[in-house]
Amino acid sequence: MYPSLKGKVVAVTGASSGLGKAIAQRFAAEGAKVVVNYLTEDDKPDLVIEEIKANGGEASKIQGDVSQEHDVKRIVQFAVETYGTLDVMVNNAGIQAEIPTEELTLESWNKVIQTNLTGAFLGSREAVRHMLDHNIKGSIINMSSVHQQIPWPHFAHYAASKGGIKLLTETLALEYASSGIRVNNIAPGAIDTPINAEKFADPEAKKDVVDLIPMGYIGKPEEIAACVVWLASSEASYVTGITLYADGGMTKYPSFQAGKG
Ligand code: NAD
Repeated sequence: MYPSLKGKVVAVTGASSGLGKAIAQRFAAEGAKVVVNYLTEDDKPDLVIEEIKANGGEASKIQGDVSQEHDVKRIVQFAVETYGTLDVMVNNAGIQAEIPTEELTLESWNKVIQTNLTGAFLGSREAVRHMLDHNIKGSIINMSSVHQQIPWPHFAHYAASKGGIKLLTETLALEYASSGIRVNNIAPGAIDTPINAEKFADPEAKKDVVDLIPMGYIGKPEEIAACVVWLASSEASYVTGITLYADGGMTKYPSFQAGKG
């Protein structure tokens, strides 16, 4: 537990499922006031709010598409109007789609870049504006992927968006370090969330993924949420501009495991 998070106001984008949901729940368990952003009511954001409240936490929901400037401004405004400020922004919302590059339309490319990369830019910019205006030594955490480092055929738009997030994070960390605003990046490996549900429903496809993980298992959303709350807490007060890989060793050349190579 991180006492420094108690009472902090935290916004999490894409918080109605998967990693975002686990992150919102963990911040609420730490005593933070959580803004749960969701895209559509089909995502059932009320379930997340109800679960948080049933456990004694505080949370409110707001619809918004992170690829739209106006919506991201509304999300930050909602946090300020509902809870008085914004201390932590978690730019988590993201999408992926498997498309060989020769078939990748500009529309599909733009959709992934605008959601994953432009969404992280807009969320970071709006959070920074609020933090600078109110002299808040806040924390911004972007959700990248091991694919900011590992090339991924058929996912060129996704890998490009995550590579972009890495340098967006590092640049903002440098730009706002002297204002006390920390900006960090998390790179999950393969985690058990709806984004992977179809693939992991096929035992062979799931085994292919597990074979790429030196620790030998698919990560749990709670294991990513644990990284996020640490980065947001005062325990990470001297940490900015990093990528925290939470990938069971996936980026450490698994084909060399057990003395191979
Ligand atoms: P998920 O599909 O469960 O969650 C993604 C969430 O983002 C959903 O709630 C979705 O509604 C929301 N979203 C999508 N487009 C949006 C938009 N335009 N505006 C607002 N919300 C939007 O998947 P997840 O695994 O929880 O993914 C969360 C993040 O983690 C993504 O950025 C993803 O790239 C990243 N990630 C996931 C894994 C993994 O293995 N699960 C690995 C590396 C990185």
